[in-house]
Amino acid sequence: MDTLPGLEETAARILEARRVLVITGAGISADSGLPTYRGFGGLYNDELTEDGMPIEVALSGEVMRRDPAITWKHLARIEATCRGARPNAAHEVIAALQERVPTTVLTQNIDGFHRRAGSRDLIEIHGDLFELDCTHCGHHETVADYSQLTVLPPPCPHCLGHLRPRVVLFGEALPRAAIQRLEAVMQEGYDVVFSIGTTSVFPYIAQPFAIAGETGALAIEVNPGDTAVSRHADLRWRSGAAEALTRLWRALGERGN
Ligand SMILES: [Zn+2]
Repeated sequence: MDTLPGLEETAARILEARRVLVITGAGISADSGLPTYRGFGGLYNDELTEDGMPIEVALSGEVMRRDPAITWKHLARIEATCRGARPNAAHEVIAALQERVPTTVLTQNIDGFHRRAGSRDLIEIHGDLFELDCTHCGHHETVADYSQLTVLPPPCPHCLGHLRPRVVLFGEALPRAAIQRLEAVMQEGYDVVFSIGTTSVFPYIAQPFAIAGETGALAIEVNPGDTAVSRHADLRWRSGAAEALTRLWRALGERGN
């Protein structure tokens, strides 16, 4: 079993924290069987797609506007890698922690697992593959998976427009509400911050963890390997997310309320 240095100290700090910030990436969903490729590109190994364009172009906001069938085809392939998978113990512990201590979750994942595990105060900075919006009339729906979407792009039930998932495509801006919530959390501060299963290549994912040293927050990294923010961690748990968080939950339970 992996050692989790400072586990007891972490549990104590969490229980007296004004706020906890939990940052997650693809690694947290690895225990659900999802691939941990970095971003969308990993599906394609830097080769051109069959549409004759790099995947970053096929999955761009511009192609979604010009030729949505192409973008949708690739989004559906990404969705297929999630099909049938479920949130795991790590997502469930985070949702349960939110019931006990004020906790904000910042995720770059688009698999919707934090939402399905019951998390609130959730910042899905890259969106959610299963929240669909009409590009024309404002119709919105949440789908469990894409199995009902027989025509791509799926037509809107209310107008002649079509639907698209609420995800940040290449070339598109991050969602304003997510940015505003993140800025507010960073301004209010947090006493404990986790970076779980992310290589932290995006500055808005790395920065809230990297500044912990200046603010006095306890910074814990949960990742089997080294990442861009490892040097900012007070504690490094070289473990899978589900195992580490299950043991953290046990340590919290032993301390009671
Ligand atoms: Zn519509």
